[in-house]
Amino acid sequence: MAHVDFNRNLLFFLLKSPTPWHAVAQMTRMLDDAGFQPLDERDVWQLESGRGYYVVRNGSSLVAFRTGKEKPVERGIRMVGAHSDSPCLKVKPNPELRRKGYFQVGVEVYGGVLLNPWFDRDLSLAGRVTAIDDNGDVQDLLIDFRKAIGFIPSLAIHLDREANNSRTVNAQTDLPPVLMQVPEGDDTSFNELLLQQIHKEHPDAGIARVLGYELSFYDAQPPAFVGLNEEFLASARLDNLLSCFVGLRALIDNDGAEPALFVCNDHEEVGSLSAEGAQGPFLSSVLDRWCGLENRARAITRSMMISADNAHGIHPNYMDRHDENHGPIINQGPVIKVNHNQRYATNSRSAALYRYLSDELGLPHQTFVVRSDMGCGSTIGPITAGVLGVTTLDIGVPQWGMHSIRELAGTRDSFILYQVMKAFMQQASVN
Ligand SMILES: [Zn+2]
Repeated sequence: MAHVDFNRNLLFFLLKSPTPWHAVAQMTRMLDDAGFQPLDERDVWQLESGRGYYVVRNGSSLVAFRTGKEKPVERGIRMVGAHSDSPCLKVKPNPELRRKGYFQVGVEVYGGVLLNPWFDRDLSLAGRVTAIDDNGDVQDLLIDFRKAIGFIPSLAIHLDREANNSRTVNAQTDLPPVLMQVPEGDDTSFNELLLQQIHKEHPDAGIARVLGYELSFYDAQPPAFVGLNEEFLASARLDNLLSCFVGLRALIDNDGAEPALFVCNDHEEVGSLSAEGAQGPFLSSVLDRWCGLENRARAITRSMMISADNAHGIHPNYMDRHDENHGPIINQGPVIKVNHNQRYATNSRSAALYRYLSDELGLPHQTFVVRSDMGCGSTIGPITAGVLGVTTLDIGVPQWGMHSIRELAGTRDSFILYQVMKAFMQQASVN
């Protein structure tokens, strides 16, 4: 049951990755274990053939690649992309709210959060803190409270009789989580709470003062197999850490003969334009340094990108939200995403290569196109295609509840996508 082991590792990865920083830290651990060498963007790079390397930017985006036996200009690069961020509630810079003895924190909505499921969950908190140590040096530290420290209580139905008909969520007033009860006159600051947590998690770092942070709340309930036959995976951040795990495993596990690359970018959920986002220069810079300028342009013409981001599976209670011929079903294979208006970058050639590889392995695939009377989502595929000029396929496993605090995907689809991606990374010619 290879797919059971694969999914167990996937669930562990999700558990350990409450934020993009933690996800990238997990991925670098996997790369270290597989013998990949870290590269620093500040250094001169001397890359050798037949080796694996990785680069991290801002701690939240990563490019890992295998140089292959021959140069990219001769062989092209097999690329897989995904994103490391997920919609969530981030703590505001001056977050303290004290009302009736309750200590709450103000939160900013990051990305397109489905807000209702955030109520009545056991919330934990994690992210990156930037702080100054006893020597006056600035340090970045990851923290993760790893237990339920916050809660957003629903208003009782008795106090809101219309809740089941017309409940709306005001992101400013309804969302601040309750962290604790404090006595009258208490002036505990949020930074003091962070400092205590840093001393717990990093006792030797000698941290004196917190200077800044990027912290998000997350569901403390661990990822789990769900369903009478355990055919589903339930977790936060399946969009898109599932694709990150699948893509990275495919890069690590393939035979390494061909130039291949995995990229995961932060900030997809807010449009991808940032120093480390897919619309920024990160991947281009790595390719320039690996290939050289002219050879990069030549290599791209032989390359292909598979942009992996989850798709909407048809929901049995809301079947009219899909086109009748394009309603992907969970556990019936990854979904090739088509939108000729270029919300997805798939074209007939990139789709053909995927279908060919998948058919050769005897594995199923599905196709999605949005209803003609509805708008279409998008992802890093068209952005990366536009930045690099690379032939691109948009694909993803079908899931329910996208951008909810707990999403649902199938146990078969992740492993199927992994097998095809691995074959893609070993494929002699991709464009
Ligand atoms: Zn996504």
